[in-house]
Amino acid sequence: MIKLSMNQTLKDSYGRAIRDLRVSVTDRCNFRCFYCLPHGEPPIAPKEQMLSYEEMEYVCDIFVSLGIEKIRLTGGEPLLRRDIETITRKLSQLKAKGLLDLALTTNGYFLPEHARDLKDAGLDRVTISLDSLKRDTFKQMTGVDVLDRVLAGLAAAKEAGLQPIKINAVIVRGHNEAEVADFAAFAREHDVKMRFIEFMPLDSGHDWSRNDVVSGREIRERIEVKFPLSPIDVARGSETSSRYRFADGAPGEIGIIAPVTEAFCGACSRIRLTADGQIRTCLFSTVEHSLRDVVRSGATRNEIIEFIESVVMKKEPRHYINDPQFVAPSRSMSFIGG
Ligand code: SAM
Repeated sequence: MIKLSMNQTLKDSYGRAIRDLRVSVTDRCNFRCFYCLPHGEPPIAPKEQMLSYEEMEYVCDIFVSLGIEKIRLTGGEPLLRRDIETITRKLSQLKAKGLLDLALTTNGYFLPEHARDLKDAGLDRVTISLDSLKRDTFKQMTGVDVLDRVLAGLAAAKEAGLQPIKINAVIVRGHNEAEVADFAAFAREHDVKMRFIEFMPLDSGHDWSRNDVVSGREIRERIEVKFPLSPIDVARGSETSSRYRFADGAPGEIGIIAPVTEAFCGACSRIRLTADGQIRTCLFSTVEHSLRDVVRSGATRNEIIEFIESVVMKKEPRHYINDPQFVAPSRSMSFIGG
């Protein structure tokens, strides 16, 4: 059945429809993943620079009227924000206006206490980051010794019905590539969508090296040694991952996100809003556009719409990770909102 949207469609200058908004609700994080925020956070920005939940609600309402169908709350660690349930409740009300999917990406640490309230507030599903199933490697990669708590968070999310649950693992050479097949076994056992992500040059330490990237192809080969896969027969559309099911019919799913070795920019439908209200048109943008300043200047709704439309027209055709002149963005993933 073809769904007729009640809203208009936001399009960039290459004709890509923008349907997916990632909203970072905080740039603070309680983990120190070496591939993201190895040296901790810079001094915390003054609160008044951050969007309030009312401002988030207002701009998301506008984005939905422009055709955004999916909103993913992220950060930093979104559950560090004290009003996360309020933000979730307010944004879930946009489902009456065309929002189809409200998700949240988290390190899982606070899920044992928050999963039920988030579900009640209208959250549809969660993605949980989990880089190792071994206590030592988990600690070494994330800087915190809390694997058991994250696993308890996963159980709480399941119990609360925040499904389908996705698990994100960033695979980095010399750290966790030997665990890829174990993660696939985990997906089968727990019936979750396991997504493997190539290491991207988005670390605050700027220590990324191509040698540390484990390619999507290698990840798939490592899984198939143990568990043959069949591609899920859906047009990839704007999906970030190539998706597979287990050929033997076991539960669970595999997704491989390979932005470094198999860029998928041509179908990108995403834009991002940072916690301090900057629109980023690409993860790798080196420029940001202050929606916060426009909103706070007293602009009318129409003026804000014009601003958003003009920013979207500037969306980059692709990222330049593989070009010699590539310059990594100055802000790490924890500030951009992964
Ligand atoms: N704190 C939440 C979490 O841990 O999921 C949300 C924010 S985190 C920045 C979002 C996702 O970005 C995580 O799955 C994380 O593993 C991923 N990420 C961060 N830095 C990355 C990098 N350099 N390359 C690939 N993925 C990265």
